[in-house]
Amino acid sequence: PFPPLKDPLLQRTQAYINGQWVDGMQSMQVINPANNRVVGNVPNLSTTETERAIAAAQAAFPAWSAKTGKERAALMRKWFDLMTASTDDLAILMTAEQGKPLIESKGEVAYGASFIEWFAEEAKRVSGDVLASTWANRRTVVIKQPVGVCAAITPWNFPISMITRKIAPAVAAGCTIVIKPAEQTPLSALALAELAHRAGIPAGVINVITADASNSVAVGKALCASPVVRHLSFTGSTPVGRILMEQCAPTVKRMGLELGGHAPFIVFEDADLDAAVKGALASKYRNAGQTCVCTNRFYAHASIYDEFVRKLAEGATKIRVGNGFEQGVMQGPLIDDAAVTKVEQHVSDALAKGARLLTGGRVHPELGGRFYEPTVLADTQKGMTIMSEETFGPVSAVTRFSSDEEVIAAANDSEFGLASYFYSRDIGRVWRVAEQLQYGMVGINTGAISNEVAPFGGVKQSGLGREGSKYGMDEYLDIKYLCMGGI
Ligand code: ADP
Repeated sequence: PFPPLKDPLLQRTQAYINGQWVDGMQSMQVINPANNRVVGNVPNLSTTETERAIAAAQAAFPAWSAKTGKERAALMRKWFDLMTASTDDLAILMTAEQGKPLIESKGEVAYGASFIEWFAEEAKRVSGDVLASTWANRRTVVIKQPVGVCAAITPWNFPISMITRKIAPAVAAGCTIVIKPAEQTPLSALALAELAHRAGIPAGVINVITADASNSVAVGKALCASPVVRHLSFTGSTPVGRILMEQCAPTVKRMGLELGGHAPFIVFEDADLDAAVKGALASKYRNAGQTCVCTNRFYAHASIYDEFVRKLAEGATKIRVGNGFEQGVMQGPLIDDAAVTKVEQHVSDALAKGARLLTGGRVHPELGGRFYEPTVLADTQKGMTIMSEETFGPVSAVTRFSSDEEVIAAANDSEFGLASYFYSRDIGRVWRVAEQLQYGMVGINTGAISNEVAPFGGVKQSGLGREGSKYGMDEYLDIKYLCMGGI
């Protein structure tokens, strides 16, 4: 089902608890979404193993947190180097279980590894503060300490980077962690654990629990309910984020939530149109539209509307769809049948309510299965499902607008607030619009915004907290105030 690995031991078939590879009572299959073939088997674990992993993380915490930042950084740097050296194999595993084109998988390995490198460097720069005291005989000192045992629940769309974006700041800060990767993509997570093991990261610091969709609910409950776990970081859908928040309430955990988005992409009349089309294609069709920062709604000014939709459709038609392992393929399959059904529903709802189909609009006629044609819908309007719900597929919806006020109001008319984009060359407008968009991230004259240096995260119901960047480490550090008297 996939090309041979140079290092076959990177394909693990067991979960990773307390530095050991462990089996479960049951196992589950990992499926290649391109052809429905079995890629491998991993344990289907549940509450008992989760409790064991939490206990292992708790036992590992004192020694790991007592290391200096520099010592932790050295181990993380080794892990980063091993990951980078294994790029080809990690990319093969990722394409096999997730479907994205091999070139995108390689890009994700580099992106994922960059968080380990970045936070290894940051581990050396956790600083406290001495504040001016209002008491002559006391001093006000602030120190930062790791929050303790952490847990992470991650999605299938970025099988490596959504994990490293959480593990790296956690272990850099001195925390230990239990990770429950998405049921669709456990192999990438286990390969990362194997490399962490080889890098010498001590037993119990990183633990990976694999579970199917139904056991994931039980694992999630155990992680949330545990008083030992002090922080839960989740990337996934907003409904599941709400459930986890509720489940974390009894133990008042700190939480990082990266939830759904519904990104607007505005093309103003003064935009560089070709650049806007290029940015639009990159933002919409990457990972077959299955990212939380993918554009969901395009708004093009009336004066350039026709030209924009024509060029966007031309570009979309040129995207080559196929098995991610084939040379030149730019868009792989959707993750599962439910994903295809959702895309079909969004497209048929839009067409029934008056949208115009310019290209695509169906399952790929030759490839079938989960391959969906890159699609462009023009004349979409508020009230269509696609205008408010995340499609998570390769479908552009383009709406016409005539004034800045109108388009900003439309762009902000969403319960989500993750990524947004706009194209304009007018510096005054650039500032005004950037400040008015109610989103955690704004791409200005670019459709690609993510890297390890930048704070990733949303406002409104898109989540809490920021990942990556110099701010990302704060999620895993508690502030402690020392009031030093008797001076
Ligand atoms: P997606 O639509 O991307 O699959 P989900 O939010 O359903 O998003 O899944 C993201 C992650 O959350 C996966 O690891 C999945 O197993 C996990 N998950 C889904 N439902 C629950 C739940 N009720 N409790 C804990 N984890 C869950």
